[in-house]
Amino acid sequence: MSNRELRACGRHGHLTYAPTEADLAARLRGRTALGEAWRCLRCGDWVLGPPVSSGPADEAPVPARGRALRQLTILRVLAVERIVRALVLIAAGYGVLRFASAQTALRQWFGSWLPAARPLADRLGVDLDRSAILRYATSALNTGKGVLTLVAVGLFLYGVLEGVEGVGLWLAQRWAEYLTVVATAVFIPYEVYELTKSVTVTKVGAFAINVAAVVYLIVAKRLFGARGGRAAYEQELEGESLLEVRAAGVAAAFAADGGGRDIGMSEVGAGESERPADG
Ligand SMILES: [Zn+2]
Repeated sequence: MSNRELRACGRHGHLTYAPTEADLAARLRGRTALGEAWRCLRCGDWVLGPPVSSGPADEAPVPARGRALRQLTILRVLAVERIVRALVLIAAGYGVLRFASAQTALRQWFGSWLPAARPLADRLGVDLDRSAILRYATSALNTGKGVLTLVAVGLFLYGVLEGVEGVGLWLAQRWAEYLTVVATAVFIPYEVYELTKSVTVTKVGAFAINVAAVVYLIVAKRLFGARGGRAAYEQELEGESLLEVRAAGVAAAFAADGGGRDIGMSEVGAGESERPADG
């Protein structure tokens, strides 16, 4: 029993389900001194009380378990990283827009401040004409408003794209996995080009994270038909869930008396170890 399933149940509540098929229902239902109990489809624990929902076995919820649940955790880390990036990009876009609108006033202020500062700088031995910060400031102030607006729009759009990826990944949407792979992969050649110019820890880190994310998504989520594609992926999910029902059935078969299973109170709410190991 992995703690991950228990934690998921702690957050979202146990997932009990009564199949309309009597034989399947009997496998998942138990009797206790305190009344009926149902087996959680996610963590396998016995839960006192009526099932959360019921219906045909085909429509039973397929909870993320085992490997799928682990993938969900990794996707959420990736989702948070994208959302943080989105916020930074949108804030930067907003900053550029504000700068563009205040550019004229800043240029005037700069124009009057610079001659006044020159004698003082000379006395302190600072060569203003060779100062890098001053060079950047001057070139930013002289950048056309149109160019700045374009830069701001670019930052906004990129931020929105990252935000959409982040929200989609958080909700475990397959389209978001595709979007993330494509949108991340198109920037990899540019990142390589940047690395050929100069190597910094930030650049190498971003490059490594992006390559790892692309490879992980394609392989683990079987995108673009990798490892059998979507069909194989869904079978894997379904398989992990059905295994649980089957394991529950095997356990119940020993105690089955047609109307359900008698279970000791010590068993209710306690972890069970009959779940097959992942992978
Ligand atoms: Zn549970």
